[in-house]
Amino acid sequence: MNRISSTSRVFALLGDPVEHSLSPEIQNAAMAAARVDGVYVAVETMEEDLAGLMRGLARGGGGGNVTLPHKEKAASLLDRPNSTVRRTGACNTFWAEPDGTVVGDNTDVEGCRRAVARFLQGGPGGARVLMLGAGGAARAALVALLDDGVDEVRILNRSIERARAVSRRIGGERVRVVASLADIAGEEFDLVVNATRLGLEDDDPLPLDLELPGRVGAVFDLVYGEDGTPFVRAAQARGIRATDGIEMLIHQGAAAFERWWGREAPLEAMREAFRTRRAALAGEVGR
Ligand code: NAP
Repeated sequence: MNRISSTSRVFALLGDPVEHSLSPEIQNAAMAAARVDGVYVAVETMEEDLAGLMRGLARGGGGGNVTLPHKEKAASLLDRPNSTVRRTGACNTFWAEPDGTVVGDNTDVEGCRRAVARFLQGGPGGARVLMLGAGGAARAALVALLDDGVDEVRILNRSIERARAVSRRIGGERVRVVASLADIAGEEFDLVVNATRLGLEDDDPLPLDLELPGRVGAVFDLVYGEDGTPFVRAAQARGIRATDGIEMLIHQGAAAFERWWGREAPLEAMREAFRTRRAALAGEVGR
């Protein structure tokens, strides 16, 4: 447990809802393990309060994270967004420079890069990718994969217009929108990324019938669950390597920790805090 005092830097997760977030446990465990003087809380935040909270926390010497539904709004409130915020149109981490300038990053991108590199034991360079989804998480994953040298990304989304908008914003010639499922029948993909919300609820359908493409080399599901996700289990049942979004969650938090504290994040302490909190939540649900 970190010792809270009058010198502690204050960090907050701003979003709505925030009550089920695991970030407070993960960041407080990280600060305790690194022996730095800070405290991290979650604040349910209405849009009209976002600007004041971000500015006050950052210029007061701390900072924080922003989650749904405010990541896009947060990007517009920074004094100086970095290039990742500009490319994705979203900010999930903010703090202030010594001169009081409020700056921010979207560490979902760095979290995705590190998690994919770990999962694929190297980078995704040269890979042919099928991206499912076109929301905020898909934009972050797309920037991460393009920066790490994938050959091609095909985007498949329920709303094709949203996929086209993402492709226009981030795309370039390596990104193409899938107009219909028939377009990917028999196609070969080194990596399928699920960046839809499918898998969050028990009765969700799978985001893709894995029999449809001709070959799927690996599955990276951004959703994370109690015991993997249905999509991860479906892939593994077909002999496809698959992982859920836990490592991305840990690594986006680690990247935020590094921005705030200017030092390496204690990853093992963060993973342990995640596991402990998740086990406690499972116990509460089971009762
Ligand atoms: P978002 O901006 O609301 O986007 C949701 C995406 O899911 C859209 O592509 C949407 O399609 C699709 N979708 C929703 N309901 C669907 C349905 N019934 N059938 C088919 N597609 C559906 O949300 P987000 O922020 O991108 O988050 C997406 C997922 O990524 C969430 O599960 C979140 O937990 C996860 N995530 C994980 C991490 C991590 O660190 N592991 C980080 C960020 C997000 P339309 O465009 O057609 O609505």
